[in-house]
Amino acid sequence: MIRLSFWGAAGEVTGSMHLLEVGGKRVLLDCGLFQGRREEARTKNANFPLDLGDVDAVILSHAHIDHSGRLPLLVKHGYQGTIFCTPATRDLCSIMLPDAGFIQEKDFEFLKKRGHDGLAEPLYTSSDATRVPDLMVTVPYERPLEIVPGVKLTFTDAGHILGSASVVLEVDAAGRKRRVVFSGDIGRTGLPIIRDPKPPAGEADVLIIESTYANRTHESVAEAQALLAKSVVTVARRGGKIFIPSFAVGRAQELIYELHGLARDAKIPELPIYVDSPLAVNATDVFRLHPEVFDRGERLIRETDELFRFRLVKYVRSVDESKALNGLRGPAIIIAASGMVESGRILHHLRNGLGDHRNLVLFVGFQASYTLGHRLQSGAREVRIFGELVPVRAEVATIGGYSAHADRGELGRWAAGLGPRPRRAFTVHGEAEQLEAMAGLLRELDVRDVDVPRFGQSFEV
Ligand SMILES: [Zn+2]
Ligand SMILES: [Zn+2]
Repeated sequence: MIRLSFWGAAGEVTGSMHLLEVGGKRVLLDCGLFQGRREEARTKNANFPLDLGDVDAVILSHAHIDHSGRLPLLVKHGYQGTIFCTPATRDLCSIMLPDAGFIQEKDFEFLKKRGHDGLAEPLYTSSDATRVPDLMVTVPYERPLEIVPGVKLTFTDAGHILGSASVVLEVDAAGRKRRVVFSGDIGRTGLPIIRDPKPPAGEADVLIIESTYANRTHESVAEAQALLAKSVVTVARRGGKIFIPSFAVGRAQELIYELHGLARDAKIPELPIYVDSPLAVNATDVFRLHPEVFDRGERLIRETDELFRFRLVKYVRSVDESKALNGLRGPAIIIAASGMVESGRILHHLRNGLGDHRNLVLFVGFQASYTLGHRLQSGAREVRIFGELVPVRAEVATIGGYSAHADRGELGRWAAGLGPRPRRAFTVHGEAEQLEAMAGLLRELDVRDVDVPRFGQSFEV
């Protein structure tokens, strides 16, 4: 018997976790954290739906927290088996998971100080999270490996973030053979640094596919680059600063890389670029360790080995150095976390800089509802930062083309790139509307049997 069940990113985006059962063996695909409203997410994360002692192996598609963020819980509850992932995913996890634990500890302290009663302990701590990489066995792209009897794993490049993979499982349950493909998160064509997504060609009996932007079309990466250059030129000319709220892992490195390329081609003026985030600085070090997954077709990668070190860029680790940037005169670019302006050093930069009409706040990523980033993007005239009302005189702009997720056209091309149409498909990792859009897209490709699984639903395949 081969059975598939869905325990996260089913009917929603976050908490990616699916279970494959083959002849008594249980293989977990991803073990991600639910994100969103604090209480609701907390309850979902704390109530692990499976008996952990029964899991034989875990496969991790990539390091993003909505795919990896419950691994420390798994380990905390005694999981001793292997977690299979690519080498770059392991290295990213070794900095991102302790950071996720640290945030939970800080959150807990903050709420306690505010006098909240009956608080649940943090799900896990930074030190719980540091134990996860001990269980990781790394498997490069395109190297098949039998992970439990009857299940052979192959990763292909998903082109989404450094080390991200699509997963192919060749399953043999007492002569009953199935090829199961899990897309992971699918990236975009032409994203900086990493290669384009490579759909694992061949007949899939079962396809599990993400749907994040199945009903959207993004601007192209080339358009995004042109907009970035134009913004820098305009703001430098008027003597302002550019504040870029950015995720520390992935987006920050893409920005450094893009600005490096633009500066090298003299498409932007010489101005200092500060990367003000300890996590981003650490993540940049991980990128430097993994040139094997870079896109050799890109000119900058062919021309230099030092993608992230050039004359204009400065990495800021200490809090004092970060605060010193407040006194900076003249044009500059400051890249700081968090990406949605909910926490982190970007807050003190914006408190200091939002009042100056020469400055620009440049969004390069998705801003969820109810975040400070979203309020700024929607044109708020004043915002509250650290309890203080700050007038917004700076320009606010958005570049959409750096999304790490394939849009509708790219998802369709990826699915078609599998070659023969899959016999059966499941759409995951999206809100209801996107899941239905992805299901529709697959039916257009003549996939006859498409399901949108609910949380906890299970299918014999
Ligand atoms: Zn992702
Ligand atoms: Zn995801």
